[in-house]
Amino acid sequence: MRYDYLIVGAGLFGATFARQAADAGKKCLVIDKRDVIGGNVHTREEHGIQVHKYGAHIFHTSDKRVWDYVSGFAEFNNFVNSPIARYGEELYNLPFNMNTFSKMWGIATPEEARKIIDEQKKEGYKENPANLEEQAISLVGRDIYEKLIKGYTRKQWGRECTELPAFIIKRLPVRFTYDNNYFNDRYQGIPIGGYTAMVERMLSGIEVRLGTSYEDFLEKNAVSEEPESFSRVIYTGPVDEYFRHKLGYLEYRSLRFEEEYLPDCDNYQGNAAVNYTSADVPYTRIIEHKHFEFGKGEGTVITREYPGEWKIGDEPYYPVNDDRNNELYSKYKELADAEKDVIFGGRLGVYKYYDMDKVIASALDLAEKEL
Ligand code: FAD
Ligand code: UDP
Repeated sequence: MRYDYLIVGAGLFGATFARQAADAGKKCLVIDKRDVIGGNVHTREEHGIQVHKYGAHIFHTSDKRVWDYVSGFAEFNNFVNSPIARYGEELYNLPFNMNTFSKMWGIATPEEARKIIDEQKKEGYKENPANLEEQAISLVGRDIYEKLIKGYTRKQWGRECTELPAFIIKRLPVRFTYDNNYFNDRYQGIPIGGYTAMVERMLSGIEVRLGTSYEDFLEKNAVSEEPESFSRVIYTGPVDEYFRHKLGYLEYRSLRFEEEYLPDCDNYQGNAAVNYTSADVPYTRIIEHKHFEFGKGEGTVITREYPGEWKIGDEPYYPVNDDRNNELYSKYKELADAEKDVIFGGRLGVYKYYDMDKVIASALDLAEKEL
């Protein structure tokens, strides 16, 4: 069999590119080493609840092209992410906004909040924050940094805030209004019926082989009596793994998901996401999946998320975009650019802390260029 594209990875990058290529009349084969489609957005229905098997995924974007695109494959509900941060027995609203400031300092007006933050950031203030700690203190002051950021970030990234890039905390809005929406984007929601159904529609009519790693596939193909051939490969796995780590290992953060079904509990925590921000709780957050769909289902399913350093055999969930890794990645990128007829894409293929919308936008861009 002859294919135009072998697409490695049935996540959002692979599925978007495959859909565009198939619609342009190209013959595609999608493979994934996992037994399921969707990559990290994969959901599975359990007890009438769509469970986000690889961590909570809330779709949000300001890119109309991307929103229109995904809306062609799913109807989105009107879920708005408003996580709660729990520090010991204290509860705060996220992202950092007037509700957070009011609870922290017993104040009511934006002016009072600004005054306290200005006061707290004076000490050690730098015009151009060089790391996450400096950036956080200059945005929200020391109290919030100490209670809501320091411990959580250390658990999530396994590094001190002084060793992490400032951009990580700039993902979160800081607002001087009483608005708990975690995102500033124009469009937001969860696909009704789950992400897996959405990706299934994206891949409809396209050949997909699950439980098939690229390495095994190539090995078997090489000794097959009727080998399959491809004009090009789209590779969405880890770029350093593709090159067999010949320049060294890129670092990733991994996660362990501890899922629990509570048949007799209708509502465990009253919110989809509760972040545990103190260093002495080993997990970063608890997700209660039914709240992504406003409480459907029997009983409830919760997932605790435990971060850890990636080691061989683990799933690499987050690239660690600090200076050391970015520098090593730039060397891998040179190899990747020189690799004939292989295109690297997606969060792992280009080693970037991308959200779903950025992944889809980059796959659409590639498709426009390529097809
Ligand atoms: P992936 O989803 O990682 O897909 C890559 C696929 O390639 C995987 O299925 C993998 O099995 C397969 N693969 C890898 N190597 C090989 C190989 N050698 N052979 C065969 N197959 C291979 N984004 C948001 O916008 N909103 C959120 O709320 C959000 N929450 C997140 C929460 C968590 C815990 C995580 C980890 C990420 C979150 N994201 C979120 C980011 C989002 O998951 C990614 O942007 C998106 O899923 C990346 O898609 P992808 O196709 O690039 O990669
Ligand atoms: N963060 C934090 N406390 C929180 C939530 C987030 O300190 O309660 C910091 C942390 O460093 C995290 C970053 O903000 O890695 C980005 O948070 P986001 O929720 O975007 O992370 P993701 O959902 O990608 O894991």
